[in-house]
Amino acid sequence: MRRLCMALVVASIATSVVGAQAQDERARGRDGIGWRLPPGYIPGGDWNVRIPFQVFDNVYYVGNEAVSCYLVTTSDGLVLIDATNAIMVNRTIENIRQLGFDPMDIKYVFVTEAHEIHYGGAAQIKAMTGATIALSPADWDFLELAVERADWVEYDWTTQVAPPRDHEIQHGEVITVGDAEFTLYTTPGHTPGTSSFAYVGHDGDRRYRVLTPGGTGLSMGSDWTDEWIEGREGLKAEGPWDVILGNHPNNTPGNLFKLIYEGADRAPGDPHPVVQGRAAIDDWFDTLLGLAWQKAEAPPHGHLRRPGVITNQVLPHLLSPR
Ligand SMILES: [Zn+2]
Repeated sequence: MRRLCMALVVASIATSVVGAQAQDERARGRDGIGWRLPPGYIPGGDWNVRIPFQVFDNVYYVGNEAVSCYLVTTSDGLVLIDATNAIMVNRTIENIRQLGFDPMDIKYVFVTEAHEIHYGGAAQIKAMTGATIALSPADWDFLELAVERADWVEYDWTTQVAPPRDHEIQHGEVITVGDAEFTLYTTPGHTPGTSSFAYVGHDGDRRYRVLTPGGTGLSMGSDWTDEWIEGREGLKAEGPWDVILGNHPNNTPGNLFKLIYEGADRAPGDPHPVVQGRAAIDDWFDTLLGLAWQKAEAPPHGHLRRPGVITNQVLPHLLSPR
């Protein structure tokens, strides 16, 4: 924690003196990723991965440097997990084409959160492909209310046009697309209806239970913390999981980009670099839950305003009453 605080202090001094790189990043955040990044935060880090890339035989990363979007291939079309935002969605669609797939084959878009970095591209994907957009009823409500409550702080990350209300996710429902099965969970707390998705990753003959959990960040106000904890305890109990693919690269235990970068020279038969293993994932859940318990015990505070840091590594910042 202290190291991070020092890094932020050093970064802010650097910004005031020269700050070209930090300014660049912030500009890219606003104009590109559409999410203002804190000074000194480089999502891709030192791991020079080229987007898009393959994760499993049937799973590809088609998101951007800061926000994930996974393409899952099936025998009957494509499934997207998250839509990136309205600014980045053209690049996401281009990423899908670059991999040799036709975006018109997208059948479903499963959305983890009613925060625009995850849902904002969905309206365009819907208009273009007719794909079914799936969010939980509570997150559909949240998107609809955002229009009337534009100045409420919890809607700060919900300003982009929402897709028309479409599929409503029920907790535990299974959606079959061709030869693939997806289990959908409602795990509220980060947004009122955050969702999480389970599917199977193929690596040759091996099969892995993959979970993409929504809303692992603790940027919500303290009155949502109990629900957050309940949802993540529920997800842990649905395990054991072999793989977490986070809805941000750095919400993947071990950082998705780092795992992919370090596994690039993998020989046939070597362990899959992204398979974290059941014990490590249980530890990861316990760490997250521990942070959430600290948050639950801290003085009450509101939702974090932009520019925000949506990671778990900045808990003291999130905990400061505001
Ligand atoms: Zn979020």
